[in-house]
Amino acid sequence: MTEPVLKIDDLVMHYGQVRAVDGLSLEIGKGEVLGLVGESGSGKSTVGKCVLRLIEPTSGRISLSGTDITHLSRRSMRPLRRDVHMVFQDPFSSLNPRFTIEQIVGEPLIHHKAVARREVSCRVAQMLEQVGLRPEMATRFPHELSGGQRQRVGLARALILNPKLVVADEPVSALDVSVQASVLNLITDLQRELGFSCLFITHDLSVVEFLADRIAVMYLGRIVESGPTARLFAEPRHPYTQALLSAAPVADPARQRERRRIVLGGDVPSPVDPPSGCRFHTRCPLAFDECRTREPELADPRTGGHPAACHLVTADRLPDAAAAS
Ligand code: SF4
Repeated sequence: MTEPVLKIDDLVMHYGQVRAVDGLSLEIGKGEVLGLVGESGSGKSTVGKCVLRLIEPTSGRISLSGTDITHLSRRSMRPLRRDVHMVFQDPFSSLNPRFTIEQIVGEPLIHHKAVARREVSCRVAQMLEQVGLRPEMATRFPHELSGGQRQRVGLARALILNPKLVVADEPVSALDVSVQASVLNLITDLQRELGFSCLFITHDLSVVEFLADRIAVMYLGRIVESGPTARLFAEPRHPYTQALLSAAPVADPARQRERRRIVLGGDVPSPVDPPSGCRFHTRCPLAFDECRTREPELADPRTGGHPAACHLVTADRLPDAAAAS
C-alpha cells in the first residue's frame, strides 16, 4: 500500500482546560479528499491548524508522506511547507490588503525559489486563468475584488506550488450562497486536474457530498463516524450523523418532503468538561443507561460496513434517531 499523504495518530490538543481535540486518528491517501465535518466547537479547525503546524499539539503524531512533522523545528519544516497549503474561510482577512494580486499569488514562488524571478508574472497569470480569473487582475488589490474572486485568489496562492495536500477550512461558508456553488465546482475541477489530496473542513455535510471521497464526522474532539461518502449518505449509522444529514438540504423536493428532521436538544456541551461515557449522550434521542457510563469505541459493526462510535452499532443494531426524536 502506498504511504498516505497525511497520517494523524491519536492527536490530542488541549488549550489549558479546553479539550479541543481528544484522541483523533485519520489518513488521507494520494489524490483523496476527506471531508471533516462537525458543528462549531467540534475541534475540526484545530485539526487543520495542527496539520499546518500553526499550533503545537499536546500529543499524538502527524506525518506528511511518511515524515513525522509533529515536532519538527521551523527550519526543518520549511522545505515541507511547499507540500501543504491552506485555503481559509475568510479570503479578505487572509490576503494582505497592501499587496497586489500578483504579489499575493506569486509570493510562495519567490519564498521557495520555485522559479526564476522573471518567470513569476507568467506563472501567476497562468494560475489566475486556471482559477477562472483574468490575468489583468494581477495588478489589482484585494479590496477591488468580490468575495468570490478573492477566494479564487486564495486558491491560486494555495495551489501555485502544486502542493501534495491542501487544507481547506470552511472555504465557501463566508461567501454569498449564489457564488458558493461556483467556487465549490472550481475546487472540485482543480482537485481532479491537479490531483492534490485535500482535508476539507466544514460544518455543512451537503457541501462535501460531491467533493469528498470519504467523510469523517467529529463531535467534541473525536471522530464519531467515518466512511466512503456515498455509503455514509446512504446509511448514516451514528445518531449524530443522522441528525446532521436530516438537516442538510436535498435537491429533490420529493425526497425533502419524505425526510424526517431530527432536532437535537441543547447545545454542544463545553469541551472543558465533556460528558462521561458517550460524549453525545446528553443530546442523543437513543441514549440508554450504558451510554452515560461507558465510552463507545470507533469500531466496525461485526457484520461489516463503516465504523461508528456508538454502542448500538457495535452490537450490530442500526440506530434510528429519527424514529426516537
Ligand atoms: Fe446515542 Fe448511546 Fe449511541 Fe452514544 S452510544 S450515540 S448515546 S445510542
